[in-house]
This record gives sequence, structure tokens and C-alpha cells, in this order.
Amino acid sequence: MSDCLFCRIVAGTIPSRKVHEDELSLGFHDISPHAPQHVLFIPRKHLSSLNEATAEDRELLGHLLFSAAKYARENGFADAGYRTVINTNRDAGQTVFHIHVHLLGGRALAWPPG
Ligand code: 5GP
Ligand code: ZN
Repeated sequence: MSDCLFCRIVAGTIPSRKVHEDELSLGFHDISPHAPQHVLFIPRKHLSSLNEATAEDRELLGHLLFSAAKYARENGFADAGYRTVINTNRDAGQTVFHIHVHLLGGRALAWPPG
């Protein structure tokens, strides 16, 4: 999808501050962080939202969560805690329509979210 911002990040035509890269996914710093640690994990494959995921994508979705947890562990904030979030469509405020897991940490996070 050439008009998708995150597909362009996957292709490398838009730069990003990558923290993780493997055959299925990418992790990079959010351009507008809401916490000291705010990293996005995305599949290389274009999926516009969780609504488009099928049974075929089960492993891929687990892979994104697993990569987020690994990053938190390796960067020393897994024990303190963190939040993983997938925003889907309007009511959740999704703005980029290429599925992504937000990993937020490094400070105490309020609950419930707004
Ligand atoms: P959403 O609101 O769709 O759940 O999250 C999209 C996220 O992508 C936002 O937190 C936003 O700051 C981030 N973002 C938007 N454009 C860019 C970009 O060009 N580079 C990076 N690294 N993050 C972006
Ligand atoms: Zn895309």
C-alpha cells in the first residue's frame, strides 16, 4: 500500500528510529511520545486495523505483543510495568490505518484511559 505511512516506514522511504526488526515486524519510536517509552510495533504486512485481521494473522498478532514484551524486558521497565494498546477506528482515535501495537512505559499510567 504505497499511500500508507507505516508501509512507507517498512519500505524505508520514510525514516524512523527503529528499535526492533525481524522478518515479520518492525518496532520504532513514536514520533510524538506520550510516555518516556513509547514504541510502535507493526507487521510488515499491511493490515489496516484489528478489524481486518483473520485467523491467518493470529501468530502475527501474538508476535507483535511478544516483541513489545521483549523490548520492555531488555530496556529495564518490564517489572515496573507498561501498557500495550491497539486503537481501532474512530471511537478509539485510530489515526494511522496500518495496525500497530503501542508500547507505553517508563512512568505510572492512569487507568481508565480517556
Ligand atoms: P493511533 O492514533 O493510530 O493509534 O497511533 C498512531 C501513532 O503514530 C501516533 O501515536 C503518532 O504519534 C504516530 N505517528 C504518526 N506519524 C508518525 C511518523 O511519521 N513516524 C512515527 N514514528 N510515528 C508516527
Ligand atoms: Zn500499511
